[in-house]
Amino acid sequence: MCIIIVSVSTARYMAKIVLLGDGAVGKTSLRRRYLGKGFNQSHLMTIGADFASTNIDVDGEILNTQIWDLAGQRNFQMIRQRFLLGSHGALIVFDVTNKGSFLSLKNWLNELWTVNRRTDIPLLFIGNKVDLIDQRVVTPQEAENFVKYVASHPRLRGVPVSYIETSAKDGTNVQEAFAIMGKELVQKFKLQGNQK
Ligand code: GDP
Ligand code: MG
Repeated sequence: MCIIIVSVSTARYMAKIVLLGDGAVGKTSLRRRYLGKGFNQSHLMTIGADFASTNIDVDGEILNTQIWDLAGQRNFQMIRQRFLLGSHGALIVFDVTNKGSFLSLKNWLNELWTVNRRTDIPLLFIGNKVDLIDQRVVTPQEAENFVKYVASHPRLRGVPVSYIETSAKDGTNVQEAFAIMGKELVQKFKLQGNQK
């Protein structure tokens, strides 16, 4: 008798999550921290895109995620567009000590929507580096107002849009950020009946 053992992944849903934001805001650090790889003081510019696959447990439902960490530098735009395509959720990161990175958020959002030709992608805006209290230039109020403004966009009716403040350095809210996105994606997939 021949027995064939087929390994079946426990994940019920699959999602591609992209980390967007200007260079040096902490995208790679957040992903590394989330995956338990520690924190690195030195900044290694991400070339192209990094990729990590991990499972997120959302109230007992397993979501397999591919977390794409994209290069923020403008000269990688072609590569960036290729990796934005087909994303299910986006973490759009700025650095609370860098006003320019906050002002860039709308450009990242436009690029995400343009490449995907759709706006029904759950969004989580992240204000990172909150451990640098003395150097902070973007207030929580300012960030929340921007996110409320985005959420009121007519094209975003019914799409989850949230905001969280993190530190990849001391770990504040890093697990929570990915948990929020995981939950929103599972809810969306359940509504769509979109299983693996
Ligand atoms: P990326 O270009 O967006 O991927 O940014 P990186 O993750 O490479 O981080 C850029 C720099 O900011 C590095 O020197 C990190 O050590 C530093 N950094 C990242 N996150 C934080 C944070 O939460 N707090 C502090 N103090 N530094 C951070
Ligand atoms: Mg990087």
